[in-house]
Amino acid sequence: MLIIMKSTATEDDVAAVIHRVESSGARAHVSRGDEVTLIGAIGDREHVARIEAEAMHGVDHTVPILKPYKLASAQVKGGGRSVLDIAGRHVGGDNFTLIAGPCTVESRDQVLSAAETVASAGAAMYRGGAYKPRTSPYAFQGLGQEGLRLLEEAKARTGLPIVTELMDVRDVEAVAEVADVVQIGARNMQNYTLLTEVGRSGIPALIKRGLSATLEELCMSAEYVLKEGNPNVMLCERGIRTFEGSYRFTLDITAVPVLQELTHLPVIVDPSHAAGRRDLVLPLSLAAAAAGADGIIVETHPAPEEAICDGPQAIHTSDFADYAARVEQAAAVAGKVVGATA
Ligand code: PEP
Ligand code: MN
Repeated sequence: MLIIMKSTATEDDVAAVIHRVESSGARAHVSRGDEVTLIGAIGDREHVARIEAEAMHGVDHTVPILKPYKLASAQVKGGGRSVLDIAGRHVGGDNFTLIAGPCTVESRDQVLSAAETVASAGAAMYRGGAYKPRTSPYAFQGLGQEGLRLLEEAKARTGLPIVTELMDVRDVEAVAEVADVVQIGARNMQNYTLLTEVGRSGIPALIKRGLSATLEELCMSAEYVLKEGNPNVMLCERGIRTFEGSYRFTLDITAVPVLQELTHLPVIVDPSHAAGRRDLVLPLSLAAAAAGADGIIVETHPAPEEAICDGPQAIHTSDFADYAARVEQAAAVAGKVVGATA
């Protein structure tokens, strides 16, 4: 249930409502707008029914939150957008965030040279996997701890916040030491234990849409993290499996405005994994940026032909500055501000 306070409600009125919500066994999620404060009462139906907030001082009215994902729903913020602060970078709202780097951390030279290219082209964050989800158990699984140390070095050199994948709850602490954002990969989107731990850790999360997941399922995954009190969640469209076989996955551009309608969370697009081919990455990126995506996460590599994984889809770092400039122009067309910092 959403409790809408009057514009004249006092801090004491708000505090009394929060107290009532919590003492009936539900959780209070407060969203302060310019005009009014909204209080989401989230919990079991019986707990919420017990609240009877309408009669309380300062309460204007209440409405049910209709979606099964309560905290992720746009309704809980009254249409306002969440703007995350990731190590001083603003993500969401009017901001456009470019995240780039190699698929996987391979060597010191590769990681540092890609990081320098990405930083000098003005990207907001650096991506690279130290733990890799691979279809084949015989394929390279990532450098693990050593990869995290290399990412740490790249961060120290460039100042760019790090986005890196977390696959296993046992690695939460080690990854959180280096990562500014943990990526939950498409294959782990419904790993509810992992999502809950990320929620508890408080570390910002980028949740990728599963290969066959509906938007509602993606929002429910976000809910797992939000429910633990971690508000720093980004959603990522990375292509879904369809009947079309001429390219790797089908990038669902429609998901961008629809997710922005359904939720208040930033929506990031990954054109690389959808395309699977370098030549498709720019057109898909332009489409995503022009559709109003809150950001793009893209793969780039200094020598894609030698890359251990996802080389065919990686943009050469030598082409990255041009790529970034084109994408940022498209984002500006959609009314986004590029590179806003706190
Ligand atoms: C990746 O970002 O390198 C990756 C493996 O992505 P996804 O989980 O979307 O396949
Ligand atoms: Mn990859």
